[in-house]
Order: sequence, then structure tokens, then C-alpha cells
Amino acid sequence: MKRKFLAALCAAVFLNGAQAQAPQAAGARPAAAKPKLVVLIAVDQMRYDYLTRFYSEYKGGLKRLVDQGAVFTQAYYEHMPTVTAVGHSIMLTGAMPAASGIVGNEWLDRETGKQVTSVSDTDVKALGADSRQGASPHRLLVSTFGDELKMSGKARSKVVGVSIKDRSAILPAGRMADGAYWFDKPSGNFISSTWYFDDLPVWVKLFNEKKAIDQWKGTDGYATMAETDHGNDVVELFAEAAIDGENLGRNGGTDLLTMSFSANDTVGHAKGPDSPELKAITLHTDKVLTRFFDFLDKKIGMSKVLVVLTADHGVAPLPEVSKGRKMPGGRMTEKTVLDAVEKALNEKYGEAKWVIGKSGPAPYLDHKLIASSKLELEEVQKTAADAVRNLPHISRVFLREELRRGLAPADYVGLRVQNGFYYQRASDLVVVPEPYWLFEAKGTSHGTPWNYDAHVPVVFMGPWVKPGKYSGRARVIDIAPTLADLLEVETPSGASGRVLNEMFAK
Ligand SMILES: [Zn+2]
Repeated sequence: MKRKFLAALCAAVFLNGAQAQAPQAAGARPAAAKPKLVVLIAVDQMRYDYLTRFYSEYKGGLKRLVDQGAVFTQAYYEHMPTVTAVGHSIMLTGAMPAASGIVGNEWLDRETGKQVTSVSDTDVKALGADSRQGASPHRLLVSTFGDELKMSGKARSKVVGVSIKDRSAILPAGRMADGAYWFDKPSGNFISSTWYFDDLPVWVKLFNEKKAIDQWKGTDGYATMAETDHGNDVVELFAEAAIDGENLGRNGGTDLLTMSFSANDTVGHAKGPDSPELKAITLHTDKVLTRFFDFLDKKIGMSKVLVVLTADHGVAPLPEVSKGRKMPGGRMTEKTVLDAVEKALNEKYGEAKWVIGKSGPAPYLDHKLIASSKLELEEVQKTAADAVRNLPHISRVFLREELRRGLAPADYVGLRVQNGFYYQRASDLVVVPEPYWLFEAKGTSHGTPWNYDAHVPVVFMGPWVKPGKYSGRARVIDIAPTLADLLEVETPSGASGRVLNEMFAK
């Protein structure tokens, strides 16, 4: 059974990459010295079209990336759910959830029966804020590009991850990172965990003590600040401190810094991709990156730095905006889906707590209860799936047991669902709404396999790449193999992308 599942999975991944399998001329490996520092910049919830729609108003870092970078105009995520943890886990592993095990922001851990997040870890302690739960990359099953840099045995490489969100700092950096740091809103500190060290490095303590970020503090402390444009200023300032504190770019080998701007996601959720607020924070990000690139230039020299820009997912328009455009779209809630499942199972098999966990609208059923009730799991899943299919504006519903056998149809939606499937952590159903339909009562969101959630920027900038627009199909899973090839280290263990060698400078 297990072998069959693996074979099906391989087939799905192969089909998915089929258009990229044509033989290519060997990429001319640049003769220039290797980068001293690779910087991954992730903007949370940045759709590709933000690069083009706002281009005329960019004056800083984003303009520089578009003008001087290799811009992949058709780069997609090829999985579902398109959410923060999964996107960040893919950027530098090149691995689908089917390999990495990062299947969502949260899921039900079947072993403990507890709801967990992608990075929650009861075996480690938070450092920098006493009451916080520990977080680590222990659920990430594959290596990152940073891990491969370290395992290559070449000159010492340092790897550091920075973000407002824990998962966005931890997952791109990987298991062997020297440190990942995220923001603690109550204290205004950047914190970490005992996964990395027993005590915070001195430079982190000094940064927290100095409270330079208080210049952006609001009347409510740090909460609003972290979720508006100044949240990006804070990440940038801490990234500068990390470069100084860890001597990044000046350690002899190639170092890696991953930074993720979380505030853009909060603004996008509340106001939508067509709002003036979203445009304003994107223009602010452009400014923040100017400051950051100037700092890199002064400290290391931009000719020694390779910058990669991407995002963890896109976003849907507000349904109210879609309606005004005569486009489809509307709202339902996760509760509608979960209630429909409960009701159908109660009616057919008797009153009980059948749903014991969730990942977005995807239910986790109580397998012990199903077994002790002498019911067949797939039969119960079918009953649940039929109930969800009967709800309005549901496009497709997939069963865990069907996905285990690789039975998703080989069109792009089916492949994206299959790529997002990791049996041990999977929900019992995968629910795909019709395009432009949301599981939110207000604002907007992401998570579907539709292209507005999956089409993101992929830009490389540095002397190793030929600037220009590249419109051939690319995928976010291509970033990690490309970096591994350029740096001549092993390809991360779960990576299934290709090397984007058409952009390599001669
Ligand atoms: Zn989001």
C-alpha cells in the first residue's frame, strides 16, 4: 500500500513538472566569485501583479529588483493550501508539502489528538519572553538551502531567519540555522527558542534593550505597529542588527539571511488587493527595501550579495469588489462546512463528536470513534464529502483515502491538491471553493489552488543573473534547486523543482 502511494505521488510530481522536463542547454556557470551573502526577501501575501500594477510609483528597492533583477513573470505555487506556513516552507526547500510534511498553518496531530501549528514545539522553550510557547522547525521533514550550505563542509556558513511571525522566520531558515527570530507583541522583543541555543545571542539582547523600535510604537504598545507598515521597519532594523551581530557576508563562506515582511498580509486580509491601504503598504515596503539595500551596499557591497524576492501566497479580491466587476464570488464560513459534516454524520451514524480538528475548512474526523463504531473510514469520508458537495459554491471535495491512492484528477487543481497531501497529517477532506469564493465573514483571504492565490513574484538580483523579464513557466519550488546549483551545494532533500538556468549570467 505504501509503495503504491509513493508511486502515485511520484507520478503526480512528475506530471506537474512535465513541461519543465525538456532538455535545456547547460546553464553557463558564472565565473564570478560566489555570493558572500544570499538574502531571501519574502513579502507575506504579495501577488505577482503588485510588481506591475504599482511599478510606476516604485522609487526604491522594489523598483531596483524589477529593473536590475531576473523577473519570472509566470511563477506559481503548485500546491494547496496556499497559506503562510506552507509557502514559507517551500521557498528554500523546493519541496511540496507531500515531502516536507508542512501541510498547513495548523493541523490535528493524530498521535496526540491535539491541534498543532507548523512550528509549535513543547520540547523547546521560548527565549526572550517567558510565557510564550516554544517554536522550532521540528515538523519540517526536509532540508533547506541553508541546511545544505552548512552540510556542504565548505567554509563556515551562517544562516539566520527574521520575521514578525514565528513560522515565517523558522521555516525558510531550516533545522540547522544559527538562529531564527520573531516578534513578541506584548514585550516588543525579538524572541527565539532553545532549539537554536540555550540563551539569546548578546546582539539580540542589546537590540531588545535599546528599544530603538519604540520610535514606531503606538498608543496600544506594539500590537498595531507589528501589523501595519512599521512592522516592516522593525523587521528591516532587526535584519541590519543580525548582519552586524553575526557578521553576515563576511564569514569566509556564503551566509544566508531570510527575512519575511508579515504586516502586508494583515493589511491585505482586512482591506483587499484593490485597496489604497494595500497599495500604501506595498509602496512603504519599496522604501524599506531601499534602506536595506543601502545598508547591504555599505556593509558588504551589493556586488557580493544575491537577493531573491518572493511571497508565500497571493490573495483573492474582496467578494464585494468582484460583484461590482460582474465577476463571481461571495462568502461562506469554515463553520458552514464543518457544521454540514457534523450534521450529515450525526444523521447517518448517530449523535457524536465526529469532527475533532480542522485546518481551515478541512475537517479531521475522529478515527478512533469511527473504528469503535465499526464503521468503514472511507465510507464515513464519502458521507461527509457528499454533505459538503451539496453546499452552494463548492468546486470540489477530495477524500483523504482517495488522495492516498493518488486518485486526484491530473488537471492543475487535482495536481495542486495531490502535491499538498501528506497522509500522516492530512485532513479527512480537502475542500476547494469555486473561484473567488471565500470562507471568511469579512475581509478577504487565500488558501485555494486558484491562480490569484498561487501566482507570486520570483525575482533574483545580483551579478550572477541576467536582468530581464522571463515569461517561461517557473515555480517557487525552483528557487532552492537554483540556489543549490549556483552555490554548488547538494540540492535540498525534498526539492522537486528545476534550475532556472536561463537567467544565469555568462
Ligand atoms: Zn494570510
